[in-house]
Amino acid sequence: MLALTDHDDVDGLEEARTAAVTVGICLINGTEISTTWHKRGVHIVGLHFDPDCPELLNGLEAIRSGRIERARRMADDLAKIGITGSLEGAYRHAGNERIIGRAHFARFLVEQGHAKDVKSVFKRFLVKGKPGYVSHQWAAMSDAIDWIRAGGGVAVLAHPGRYDLGKTNMRELFTDFKDAGGAAVEVVSGSHTREQYQEFAAYAREFDLLSSCGSDYHGPGENYLELGRLPELPLGCHPVWADWEEAKVLN
Ligand SMILES: [Zn+2]
Repeated sequence: MLALTDHDDVDGLEEARTAAVTVGICLINGTEISTTWHKRGVHIVGLHFDPDCPELLNGLEAIRSGRIERARRMADDLAKIGITGSLEGAYRHAGNERIIGRAHFARFLVEQGHAKDVKSVFKRFLVKGKPGYVSHQWAAMSDAIDWIRAGGGVAVLAHPGRYDLGKTNMRELFTDFKDAGGAAVEVVSGSHTREQYQEFAAYAREFDLLSSCGSDYHGPGENYLELGRLPELPLGCHPVWADWEEAKVLN
């Protein structure tokens, strides 16, 4: 079973479903929504929703139009340190300008020899305090959760270990997420350490959330974990997929 969770988009689901059928994988509808929570970027994964839900589609569309504006500002910032042509370069990697994001700028920077691979780009560029970073107002976290639920889906707090929050802020994030109707947390993530699996399993228990596994896979060779290589959820976690008909069929 696999969910495709493109950023702020559901357009790839049809193609993915066709491919999944040919290799015998059960595909779950997904997306990963860019949100802003207290001026921080927080990602909310939506799973198992109706991809034709108008509220969800309108919300995602609004975020994608913001991406184009953000990309222009990222390119302007990189130009200040002499890296020109990044907007065109990033568009080339994105294929479609409405999904343009940091990963496409990262690929351009690697191609131009500014970093050896995509992972190391994010040590020197595109993150807070480094060239190419711009702050951007995404959707409100609670709005994203509402859109997912409007489509009958489950809202999942993505890779909480990546947000660099202390205990107090982390608890506040979990509290706000749960109050807004969030139902699950990515306990196992391609960007979590083994210790963090246990840490977020404990948060899931405390906040009575279901648990999910997210690869954070962005393409071959750009990841900490390859697709299908995620470890199992820690004991005691309730998998987000347990009650889905698809999972019952697989069992
Ligand atoms: Zn994410």
